[in-house]
Parts: sequence; structure tokens; C-alpha cells
Amino acid sequence: MKITLLGTGTSYPDPERVQSGILVEQDGRLMILDIGSGVLHRLVQTGADVKSIDSVFISHFHVDHCSDFMPLYQTLMMSGYDRSLHLFGPLTVNEWFNTLNDRIYPYLKGRVPVEVTPLKELDTVQVGSLTIRCCKSKHGTVDGRAVRVEHKDHSFVYSSDTAPSSDVLGLAKGTDVLIHECMWLDGKHPEGVHTAPSELARIVELARPKRIIASHLSPEVVSNGSRVATIIGQNTGTDVAMGRDLMTFMI
Ligand SMILES: [Zn+2]
Ligand SMILES: [Zn+2]
Repeated sequence: MKITLLGTGTSYPDPERVQSGILVEQDGRLMILDIGSGVLHRLVQTGADVKSIDSVFISHFHVDHCSDFMPLYQTLMMSGYDRSLHLFGPLTVNEWFNTLNDRIYPYLKGRVPVEVTPLKELDTVQVGSLTIRCCKSKHGTVDGRAVRVEHKDHSFVYSSDTAPSSDVLGLAKGTDVLIHECMWLDGKHPEGVHTAPSELARIVELARPKRIIASHLSPEVVSNGSRVATIIGQNTGTDVAMGRDLMTFMI
């Protein structure tokens, strides 16, 4: 698998980071995990052929994770996309997609075939040669999904937006790469919404991924990047990277 971080930022403006998005390439097929603002532009920067996009997974319906979906849809329409796009998301994904088509952008309705699949909390789906395992994230009152993407003996886990969660931790156990959010610095924050560096250090200690990449980084986390990376790796010595847009790696 080739993985490219398309967007590693948040809703706080950052000139170096667009909002959440990950590109997965396997056997010439492309999957996008989350598609926040700026992700379509980053996708084009990779040189990827949009006509090879097979599926889009949306972790939850906060705008920084889904707002470039309709721009992508229009791009596919104008590019002569000739296959069916698979759209995966939490249980309300049908309602979200139908509302966009019926109420907001009726001029786009039906122009690109889309197969919508709602994902229950512990669903496993097969996309080509990739196995996608889900669990529920812990993100305030929002219904969200974290995912583990597996190919043969290798895997990575994308936490999406989550506070420390035993479900996400279970999903991440022993994975090759854990891409986990680190939205804010240690300190006083609302309960059960996002993850701070010392909390992520504990997750790494328990899940033991071979490598950890922190993403969904707010500007305050970015400006303290080396200190944050040290905290995240402090219990294990695990290889810690602070995510950057267009960072690429193979698993
Ligand atoms: Zn969110
Ligand atoms: Zn977010």
C-alpha cells in the first residue's frame, strides 16, 4: 500500500496544512479517507488520476472531514468518470448524501453513479484487495468511525477525530502505522472530544504500533512540534512523526 497524507490540519487556518484527508493506493485503485477542505487540491498535487478513485470513506460529518466531497463529485462528472464511486460513512451517510443532492445541489443529482454504504460500529468491508475494519470513535456526540486498513500481513489505522478510546486502541494493536489525531496540547479541554500528546503517549504504549504519525494538528501543536513528538514517544521510544501534507510512505 502507498499512503499519502493529503491533509494534516484542522479547522484552524494553517498555510501549510489543509483539512483532513488520506490517499491509499493499491493495485492501481485509489481510496480517500476523509475529504475536508483543500484535500481535492492536494490530491491533484500528487498527480493521481481522479478517474482511478474507487472509494471515499468519511469518518464523520464535521465539515473539516467532508466538505470537499461535492467538489470531488463535480470534478468526477467533468472528467468523464465512468465507474461507480463507493461512498462509505457512519449511519447517516445516506441522509447526508441525499440531502446534498436533493436540497443543495440538485443540478448534480445522478450525474455520477454512487453506491452508498453506511458502516455500523464494528463493520468490516472489502474494497478490492483491502480489508477495512471499523470501530466507533469517541468524539463528543458525533457518530464517527475509526478504521484499520489491511492488505495481506500489513495494516495502518486512522483514528479520525477521537478522544482516547479503548475501541480505537483495540483496533490499533500491533498495526504497522497508527495515524492518530493530536488536536491540542496537554491542558484543560472539554471531555471526550480530542487527544492531547500525553494521552497519545499512553495509547502508543498500549497499542504498540511500529510507527506513529500524529495528524489533525492545530497550529499550537505544530508550533510545539518537536516537544510534542518527544512526549508522544516518551513511554516507548516508538518512531514518532508529525504529519505533513503530502507525506508519503509504503506499508
Ligand atoms: Zn470532528
Ligand atoms: Zn476534525
